[in-house]
Amino acid sequence: MSALWSRTLWLLVAIACFVFLPVLIISGVAWALVAVLICVLAMLAWHLTLLSQLMKWLEGPLDARLPRGRGVWEIAFAGLHRRVRIRLGQHRALSDTLERFMRVFQALPDGVIAFDRHRHIDWINERAEAHFALSAKTDRGQALTNLIRHPDFVSYLEAGNYDEPLIYRGGRVEGLTLLLQVIPYGDEQSLLVSRDISQIERTERMRRDFIANVSHELKTPLTVVAGFSEMLTEGYEDYDDAEIKHYLGLIYEQTARMQRLIQDLLTLSALESGAPTPIEERVELEPMLRSILADAQALSAGTHEIVLDMATPSILSGCANELRSAFANLAGNAVRYTPPGGRIEIAWRADETGGAFSVADTGIGIAAEHLPRLTERFYRVDRSRSRETGGTGLGLAIVKHVLTRHHATLEIESEPGKGSRFTARFPADRLLEPAHPLRQALPSAI
Ligand code: ADP
Repeated sequence: MSALWSRTLWLLVAIACFVFLPVLIISGVAWALVAVLICVLAMLAWHLTLLSQLMKWLEGPLDARLPRGRGVWEIAFAGLHRRVRIRLGQHRALSDTLERFMRVFQALPDGVIAFDRHRHIDWINERAEAHFALSAKTDRGQALTNLIRHPDFVSYLEAGNYDEPLIYRGGRVEGLTLLLQVIPYGDEQSLLVSRDISQIERTERMRRDFIANVSHELKTPLTVVAGFSEMLTEGYEDYDDAEIKHYLGLIYEQTARMQRLIQDLLTLSALESGAPTPIEERVELEPMLRSILADAQALSAGTHEIVLDMATPSILSGCANELRSAFANLAGNAVRYTPPGGRIEIAWRADETGGAFSVADTGIGIAAEHLPRLTERFYRVDRSRSRETGGTGLGLAIVKHVLTRHHATLEIESEPGKGSRFTARFPADRLLEPAHPLRQALPSAI
């Protein structure tokens, strides 16, 4: 027999023994029945009170305190309490799991939008909010196609074939390219997963441009070399010595151009891969700048006035080969882009704020709109002039890389028709005293 029944039975026995029998013996049957009735009514009132407390508790929140009961109610309340505790535990475990899943979805590098069969949004993570300029708060419950109306997206969604992802451009966020994929799941629910591929696309475009540029740069000299060598091979005897010498000279010139291009490409690639060298060198600037001056004078062949102004001979901490290549590039450009008779000044200045290497010329100058792009690979203001003077279009890209690796910056001031000044600024901690110890680990590439 259950505890509830046994307690009820005991209560009835108690009423019979302590109320009915004594009153029956003392006052007779009628009073005994009245006494029992009073007891039953009292019990009924007590039960009703506890029942109303229970009803009130049932209407309250799940974690509200249970009323205290006695007798049979104590058993009933204890049972209820146990069930509520189990249910609360399950509820908490479920909320924790849900919370964890939400956090996982928020942490995903991809955007996720969950939507139902009517394409109404159920849930959006933060990344998807950013990808589509949506708001989880205000756009929940809205139809996806009302918010993302781009025809490519709408037709992808409507086609219903989600084996292939959609490359989505031209959304609300400018410059963003997304890879979209719909993943159906559950009961006609779906996930829209979005991945930002703008950077991959940019890199891919740069790679394509680079290959096109290199091919183009090699194509012209190769055509010249192939043309003249074919001409000489097929009709050598038709030409006199002077003509043959002239054609061989052209072949040599174009071959040298290709060699310079390949050398610059190798330098750039070594700089970009950035293989580290164990030490930084003490770079004595005075002998280096004197040799750069001599090279510039040789390149100019006496057609320019070239001077070196080195007020403060310094020692730089860095990679001598890389620095020499960068400084020589700037000096060489000054010679190549300054018409004969012009003046070129190579200078070094240093004080407690740092050091500055500069090359100023009175050459053709550069219009302001070109300045921000000058250090891009193969960017030239005047393609034919660059070619005529043996340029590869990679010089300033190399300079920029070398300076960045030495924590230095490149400043360009220029005015068309008046001249240019290229300044490489080095931070103070790159300047070494003669007794200063060597510092460690700058990647070296040239
Ligand atoms: P290039 O091999 O063509 O000279 P660079 O990368 O060294 O390539 O320079 C990029 C472009 O910057 C050049 O094609 C030229 O148009 C411009 N430039 C560089 N230095 C000077 C200068 N001192 N004066 C005028 N234009 C310059």
